[in-house]
Amino acid sequence: MTTMESLIGLVNRIQRACTALGDYGGGDNTFSSLWEALPSVAVVGGQSSGKSSVLESIVGRDFLPRGSGIVTRRPLVLQLHKTESGQQEYAEFLHLPKRRFTDFALVRKEIQDETDRITGRTKQISNVPIHLSIYSPNVVNLTLIDLPGLTKVAVEGQPETIVEDIENMVRSYVEKPNCIILAISPANQDIATSDAIKLAREVDPSGERTFGVLTKLDLMDKGTNALDVIEGRSYRLQQPWVGIVNRSQADINKNVDMVLARRKEREYFATSPDYGHLASKMGSEYLAKLLSKHLESVIRARIPSITSLINKSIDELESEMDHLGRPIAVDAGAQLYTILELCRAFDRIFKEHLDGGRPGGDRIYGVFDNQLPAALRKLPFDRHLSLQNVRKIVSEADGYQPHLIAPEQGYRRLIEGSLNYFRGPAEASVDAVHFVLKELVRKSIGETQELKRFPTLQAEIAAATGESLERFRDDSKKTVIRLVEMEASYLTVEFFRKLPQEVEKGGNPPGGNPAASTVDRYTEGHFRRIASNVSSYVNMVSDTLRNTIPKAVVHCQVREAKQSLLNHFYTQIGKKEGKQLSQMLDEDPALMERRQQCAKRLELYKAARDEIDSVSWVR
Ligand code: GDP
Ligand code: MG
Repeated sequence: MTTMESLIGLVNRIQRACTALGDYGGGDNTFSSLWEALPSVAVVGGQSSGKSSVLESIVGRDFLPRGSGIVTRRPLVLQLHKTESGQQEYAEFLHLPKRRFTDFALVRKEIQDETDRITGRTKQISNVPIHLSIYSPNVVNLTLIDLPGLTKVAVEGQPETIVEDIENMVRSYVEKPNCIILAISPANQDIATSDAIKLAREVDPSGERTFGVLTKLDLMDKGTNALDVIEGRSYRLQQPWVGIVNRSQADINKNVDMVLARRKEREYFATSPDYGHLASKMGSEYLAKLLSKHLESVIRARIPSITSLINKSIDELESEMDHLGRPIAVDAGAQLYTILELCRAFDRIFKEHLDGGRPGGDRIYGVFDNQLPAALRKLPFDRHLSLQNVRKIVSEADGYQPHLIAPEQGYRRLIEGSLNYFRGPAEASVDAVHFVLKELVRKSIGETQELKRFPTLQAEIAAATGESLERFRDDSKKTVIRLVEMEASYLTVEFFRKLPQEVEKGGNPPGGNPAASTVDRYTEGHFRRIASNVSSYVNMVSDTLRNTIPKAVVHCQVREAKQSLLNHFYTQIGKKEGKQLSQMLDEDPALMERRQQCAKRLELYKAARDEIDSVSWVR
């Protein structure tokens, strides 16, 4: 392949890739700048001046709707791709990506149908382009744009604004500095009235990117010729004028094929008395080569700016990709790995909250240092150990026979009753820590940057940690309740041994009698003493629990949360299938779409950069 072919082919490939991504010039597409940086060729001219015919002869194939009246009603972006010789020719539409057309009559029909799909079977126009690629060993690499013809008046069925609308549409293509203008004028009209030249002059005053094409040379009045135009005397352009003879409507009706048409065109020039001396520089084949050559020089000149645009775009895309997060792997193993990584990232942050570094863990200490002691202090022992209640309980425990020495049963009942009250603060501590942990999980999920993309996984982690924390809470509750029950199930004998022995005191009052001491047992002082003994025992237990409840809570909840918050989740996901894993990694669809676009573009731009690197040094 020659340098020329590879250079233009390169631009073509980049343009094709841009097109597939929806990045072609115009619109509010933010990615269209590369397309616009690359040269393209657009045909401009009055209606029925022969634009579509010229394009067809450049391609060497019949595939465009042609005829009188407004036939081309949407821009047609036509990309020609040269393939290896011997390969079958085929065409492909962007809007029908899976279908290969080998019958070019069907291509023409599809262009008509696709035009009608947007505009209806009317004479209206639309500026939504149709994209068509032709792959053939017989074409040169080129991107050509066929446009509706410029008109002067609105005909029946067209809005009043049509003249202006067409002109604006055409202008939007040809005003781009990278657009090469094929200005088509029919030779059987005065060049001074050419719409093509009028518009071209407006957008390209120096004429450096305008190619004047004169069609219908065969239709000129006998005795006249177009030499003044073709030789640049009528209207000077920097590029040479090219004369063309396309098929007439009669030829089209007779199905004169392209090969024959090209031969007839060659013969026309070779045998023409007027243009014979210019024969090698006339005709559609020559025009195709001329364009291709021009395109090459344009591309060569643009390479530095294209390269810098590509590099800039790559930088932008890379940073956007970083922002969006890298794409997720497709195989189950890698997905599992990704999920575990994400869980670990979350877990790290959660631990930082507990261990310090991030706030929140201190609130657990707050539970032990403030809430628990305050709750213990507030327990209604005063009421439980009121004189009245003590008397009632002791009497009930005694039954019909009053106690003799100390009310053993009464003591036990009073103590058991009191200790029951510790259940409340014990459970409350468990709950309070549970809520702190839950809140820290919530915060940690929110703070795990890597998880932001994965709402589904976020929810799964929240659910899994929620379950774990519930389990820890249940376990912790059982443990603290057991602590309280343990206190109630065996009383510290030592404590009671140390109590001053009432019986001896009351039993042997100096000079008192033994009967009086029995009465004495039921005095207020007696019950008050019992209450005070029970109270100090309960206080001792309270001090113990104030220390042991936090130990139990930390052991069952905090330590477990740190060590095995996601263990259960890990075993669960280990059993999941690929499909379930990818569901967990479901992303916000908009984000996914954006990343895919970004990734494809990045790939395209990088490939383009590599190609340009390899091509631009070949001479
Ligand atoms: P467009 O509207 O500019 O795209 O023009 P078309 O390519 O559709 O051609 C309009 C009509 O002019 C068709 O009937 C063509 O056959 C005819 N035509 C175009 N070029 C030539 C030419 O060089 N010679 C002759 N005899 N007819 C031509
Ligand atoms: Mg046309």
